[in-house]
Amino acid sequence: MDLRPNSDEARDIAYHFHSYTNPRVHEEQGPLIMDRGEGIYVFDTQGNRYIEGMSGLWSVAVGFHEQRLIDAATQQMAKLPYYHNFAHRSHGPAIDLAEKLIGMAPVPMSKVFFTNSGSEANDTILKMLWYRSNALGKPEKKKVISRIRGYHGVTVASASMTGLPYNHKSFDLPIDGILHTTCPHYWREGRDGESEEDFATRCAEDLDAMIQSEGPDTIAAFIAEPLMGAGGVVVPPVTYWEKIQAVLGKYDILLIADEVICGFGRTGKMFGSETFDIRPDIMTLSKQITSSYFPFSAFMMTEEVYAPIADEAGRIGVLGHGYTGGAHPVGAAVALENLKIIEERDLVANAAERGAELQAGLRGFAGHPHVGEARGVGLIGALEIVAPEGREEGFNPGQLGAAMNKHFLKNGLISRAMMDAMAFCPPLIITAAQVRDILTAVEQSLEGFA
Ligand code: PLP
Repeated sequence: MDLRPNSDEARDIAYHFHSYTNPRVHEEQGPLIMDRGEGIYVFDTQGNRYIEGMSGLWSVAVGFHEQRLIDAATQQMAKLPYYHNFAHRSHGPAIDLAEKLIGMAPVPMSKVFFTNSGSEANDTILKMLWYRSNALGKPEKKKVISRIRGYHGVTVASASMTGLPYNHKSFDLPIDGILHTTCPHYWREGRDGESEEDFATRCAEDLDAMIQSEGPDTIAAFIAEPLMGAGGVVVPPVTYWEKIQAVLGKYDILLIADEVICGFGRTGKMFGSETFDIRPDIMTLSKQITSSYFPFSAFMMTEEVYAPIADEAGRIGVLGHGYTGGAHPVGAAVALENLKIIEERDLVANAAERGAELQAGLRGFAGHPHVGEARGVGLIGALEIVAPEGREEGFNPGQLGAAMNKHFLKNGLISRAMMDAMAFCPPLIITAAQVRDILTAVEQSLEGFA
């Protein structure tokens, strides 16, 4: 690392407080500074090339130098660089995108609300749920059930819905009224002799028991990712969603599908809700909506969700909610072009086909002494790294992912360690040969790790 006083590395350490980083380790280790992108690759300032096996943060669907998105942003900047949707104002890109999203929805949706990040979208959803319950004369019906290891963001409300310890510890979270039910990870949570279906039944029974003990009339919604991403790429066990939805239906509890990672092709269908046969009342969208070329998010809701909120705002006189950057015209223009690319190039079909190759390749490592489980669907997967049996010494659970990451980087592959799981979530434009390159880098890394 270049630690001359004015080097980028030294200035980064001196001035830049990083997200999701151990600051004290960072002061010693310094940053990996990226310089440019091309297709599925990024290049650091030393000129080293990496396969971006995580699409940045699960988000760059169309690759790291898509001229059409650059043009869409540039043209919108030149035409109308900013406008908002407060006080009856609107603009073409927001209207076109709202119509487009409603048309793409896997179940009939009525309205789209625009926000700037996944966290902000989920935060807003919670406020809307409270507002709606008040409108319906059910002020007690405000709690939300999420899941252990679920990830929904980092604002006060969305971090409360997130079910990961480091998002709560010392932040004084979660806030009251947010509950966390069983994580549907069969490999980790399944009991000896319990089938996957029986485990799914147990997850649904746990949810039912929580609803009963809290009082069904106090629960507004259940929020979940169709397939858990940041909590470790947790694929729901067979029959899970069918059973969970049956429980929610019994108690008039809304279902929020957090499609921030799964949305726009990641699981081999346009939405994770389609892959897992989920019928949500609300859908959270972000990341791949603009391929993260512009910070942008949204949520869609059914008429049943929307109507009481609109009635209440009508009574009050205004909906007292909105963001300066919400429905940003540049973000909306980038989103529209990005969705056009995804459709024109049939990147959802590519995610299914390349995804099948990636999944087969990952499953091929399942017998490796360092691999506890290989899992995933479409172009999202994970390897659970374990210490080889009888050789636990020197391999520290909780740090295996971070250790493996170093080997991946050496082999030119960027992954993300989530506890001991290594995630794979490459851009949807990936080719068959590039999937093989990822698998080769994984194989070399596992050899290096042994
Ligand atoms: N929801 C899910 C499922 C996510 O994966 C994320 C981020 O990874 C978020 C919400 C939060 O999004 P953001 O980081 O844009 O606030």
